[in-house]
Amino acid sequence: MRRRIQAQGRLPSPPARMRLGATVEPFLVRTPGEAEKVWPLAETILSTHTIKHLAPTEQRFLLAAFRRNSTLAYRCLRWARWMTSNRKLEVICLKCRLTTAWSHTMVSGTSHIDQGKWRWVCPLVRLDPKGCGGRFCDTTNTPFCHVPLSPGLVFAALAYPSEVIQQLLQKNRQPVELRNLHTVLHGVETMADRKLRDRLTQYARLFCGTVLLGDCAELTRSFDGVEALEARLRSLHRSKPVAEEYAASAIRQRQASYTQLRKLASILQYIDKDSPSGQTSQRLDHRRELWVDLRDVVQTLCDPLNPAPIDLQALLAEASLPSP
Ligand SMILES: [Zn+2]
Repeated sequence: MRRRIQAQGRLPSPPARMRLGATVEPFLVRTPGEAEKVWPLAETILSTHTIKHLAPTEQRFLLAAFRRNSTLAYRCLRWARWMTSNRKLEVICLKCRLTTAWSHTMVSGTSHIDQGKWRWVCPLVRLDPKGCGGRFCDTTNTPFCHVPLSPGLVFAALAYPSEVIQQLLQKNRQPVELRNLHTVLHGVETMADRKLRDRLTQYARLFCGTVLLGDCAELTRSFDGVEALEARLRSLHRSKPVAEEYAASAIRQRQASYTQLRKLASILQYIDKDSPSGQTSQRLDHRRELWVDLRDVVQTLCDPLNPAPIDLQALLAEASLPSP
């Protein structure tokens, strides 16, 4: 708790790229329409021409960035499959197709590929209608299923002309990934569900934009559209459903800050009675830590640039959960 508060308090206004890449986006952009409205094409952020002329180490870095963002990629896949226009996930059971699966666990995969993949359960105990107890994953019945490939590479290949990513893999001697990517892309291309295919492409913008601006700052320095992107996010922020959720979240975050403030004030009140035993220097350190925490909480509450300090993990969980 302390570490989180300090991190937020000391960095009240992270650089725009960080906000766009990591913090603002998961909360504000949720539906495919929003992703398309806010995020530019990957090509605009880092052109294929530039990619082709990157140094080999930079190309490897780019591939690694797409690869390691499996959690975001699986979220994009979930959202492509089940996000509704009212910004809630509605996961219809793939087995009985009758009810909404609401419970999920992380797939405990053996490799980084499964990181962030969820397993859904169709509840047996539910009022009406009752579920079937069936289990399935984010990837079940999609071309991603049973192909050991980091889903981020697929989203990258959907956001760019796919040859660009394929050539990168080829140049970097990744024949297995190349073959698997070909398999998945062929599956996506021939999917009967055209709507899902379109939605995957829309979320590919979100995926690539987030990874490129958040993880590849060195490579995307020449992208000069950050202000435009922020303006689009702000205009989305003013739209009613987003504004309502944002306001509710801001209130929750402020409440959390007030609770923390009260807790710290109470500790400080009794600090001379209850200070930990030990060296004077340790006691002073303890005092200093408390003081920094207190200052950070106050700063979080006062900072007009940062009205809703965002706990990324909590928001991700909240953003991806269906309402019970
Ligand atoms: Zn079911």
